[in-house]
Parts: sequence; structure tokens; C-alpha cells
Amino acid sequence: MAEIGRSIVKMDVDSLINLLNKALADEWLAYYQYWIGAKVVKGPMKDAVISELDLHATEELGHAQLLVTRIVQLGGTPLLTPEDWFKMTNCGYDAPTDEYVEEVLNQNIKGEQCAIKTYSHLLDLTREGDPVTYDIILRILADEVEHEEDLVALKEDLDFMLMKRR
Ligand code: FE
Ligand code: FE
Ligand code: MG
Repeated sequence: MAEIGRSIVKMDVDSLINLLNKALADEWLAYYQYWIGAKVVKGPMKDAVISELDLHATEELGHAQLLVTRIVQLGGTPLLTPEDWFKMTNCGYDAPTDEYVEEVLNQNIKGEQCAIKTYSHLLDLTREGDPVTYDIILRILADEVEHEEDLVALKEDLDFMLMKRR
């Protein structure tokens, strides 16, 4: 363990590690929700939606990577078993049991909105006490904001295609 690296953290390291593990659980569930959603989704604009879902899946996995790297740097143990994903998650998991594009988009938008709230809270908690984690969380949060926007934009395109006007 990097002792000096850990010693500069001016907040409770164990509770920080716990919060990072909770975020890690979210990222794995988000990864799978996108990945399996891309496999089953049906309806208009399916190809554009599949591309975006696949890209987001890859990016969620990248977030998991960033979180694990930080957990290990802090001397923590990353979640070692998938059972922990459901025990630790903040945002849960929505199975795409209704494969219609609009429903899959809605589920993932809800997930992103939860992720944005979670990371925004983590950002507040680390701002003073751990600038290194803060920087990682800021990068992830920027991706989640982009994810929400991408999905909302796809839904708007879908609405125009189906001639729904708001
Ligand atoms: Fe993510
Ligand atoms: Fe995301
Ligand atoms: Mg995107």
C-alpha cells in the first residue's frame, strides 16, 4: 500500500473506500444493463440506440476500472463477488424486460440520473479531503452527464420520428 499517498487523505479512508465500492457496484450493474439492453432492444432507430448503449457499456466499464484503481491505491479491497453488487448498489438494476426502444431508453435515463446524483454527492464529500479521488469522480461525473444527454437526445429523435410533439 502507498502509505504516503494514503496519509495525505484528510477524511476517513475506510468510509471513503466503502463509498467507492458502492459506486463500483453501480458501475458493474450499469455496464450489464447497457450491454444486455443493446442485445435485446427493438423498435424504430434501433441501430442508433444499439451503438449508444454499447458505447455507454464500454464507458461504464472504464469507470469501474478507475474506481478499482483508486480503491487499491487507498489500501482497500474492491468488491470481489457479483453478489456484493446488489448488496452495495445505490442505483439498482432495471432489467430490460420490455425491449421497446423508448422503455429501454427510459430505464437507462433513470439510471444515469441516479448516477449523477451519487457522483455529485461524492464530489462534495471529497472536495476538501481527497483531491485525487475528487479528480477521478469529476471525470466520471462528466461522462454520466453526457450519457444522460445522449439518451435524452435519442428519445427526442424518436419522438420526432413518431411525430409526437410536446
Ligand atoms: Fe458510470
Ligand atoms: Fe453512465
Ligand atoms: Mg454517449
